[in-house]
Amino acid sequence: MSRFFSKKYAALTPYVPGEQPRDRRYIKLNTNESPFPPSPLAQKYAAQEAGMLELYSDPWCTALTEKAAGMLGIEKDRIIFTNGSDDALNFAFMAFCDAETPAIFPDITYGFYKVFAELGSIPYQEIPLKEDFTIDINDYCKTPGTVFIANPNAPTGLCLSLGDIETIVKSDPNRVVVIDEAYIDFGGESAVSLTDKYENLLVIQTFSKSRSMAGGRLGFAVGSKALIGDLNALKFSTNPFNVNRMTMGAGLGSLEDEEYFRSCVARVKACRQWTYEELGKLGMTTIPSETNFVFTKHSVLPGKLLYSRLRDKGILIRHFDTPRLRDYIRVTIGDEQQMEAFITAMKEILEEEQ
Ligand code: PMP
Repeated sequence: MSRFFSKKYAALTPYVPGEQPRDRRYIKLNTNESPFPPSPLAQKYAAQEAGMLELYSDPWCTALTEKAAGMLGIEKDRIIFTNGSDDALNFAFMAFCDAETPAIFPDITYGFYKVFAELGSIPYQEIPLKEDFTIDINDYCKTPGTVFIANPNAPTGLCLSLGDIETIVKSDPNRVVVIDEAYIDFGGESAVSLTDKYENLLVIQTFSKSRSMAGGRLGFAVGSKALIGDLNALKFSTNPFNVNRMTMGAGLGSLEDEEYFRSCVARVKACRQWTYEELGKLGMTTIPSETNFVFTKHSVLPGKLLYSRLRDKGILIRHFDTPRLRDYIRVTIGDEQQMEAFITAMKEILEEEQ
């Protein structure tokens, strides 16, 4: 830290992204990316836009916004596109939290929520998940503050029903509830359908997972006109061109190619089911997942050991070394070949270790 770094950031602990090592070729099952390339149409539109990079991108993302609003059946001014969904989350923390309005989220969830709160000097409360990692919705109905819930949750893969989300949202119309639906295309029911009924609900989604665009950085938020207006005020006060031309083109191409999107999601879900069953045969306990990853543990072998033994074999997965999570490993669902390689490696490790 330089002596010039503002004191307000002195205690900041930055988010640690999953590793992207370059020392050898790994089977990458550690950052919940898609194993498939983006749609050919997404690639084509992105390439066309690459030839026009001398021009600023459209700050209103007009073509993309119109297409997405049409598909979701909402007005254009109820959606905002952002530089990945992290950008939308950052705006939501800035817009709807402050010293008097704390952020509330589960103790086990997407690690960035805490970082956004710390970045903005926002007080926050982490509400413990139940023993089985599920959320007790009553905790969120009675605690004042802005609620952030990843649904499905990460790294557990568990999902709340739409009815449960609605109960939380309507329990207090005077505070904002943010539902982070990064993984919703792989399971569960989206709360976008509730956003025209509740002006205090903001739903955030991403193109990073189900639409194979993690490297493109495209996310969006849907809510009431007033909430989206607030996010736009912050976007236009920080970086109006937060979505670049190529990404905007790729996003449009992805939305125009629903067949490709659906087939990728179906393949991930089939691989997830296969992986779940194979892990069961190996004696692993796996939480039934509604996402593109599984959270699994062995009865004896610690998660850290599985992580490092898999790494030795060229397979990257994620391990969280915290008291409630350290028994588990989080494994992104790759394609059929990658998951076969993972299960083979797991078999070998379990044989070698027992
Ligand atoms: N929310 C959750 C729950 C996530 O796991 C992630 C990705 N790690 C994000 C949001 C952010 O995704 P992106 O910024 O790539 O859209």
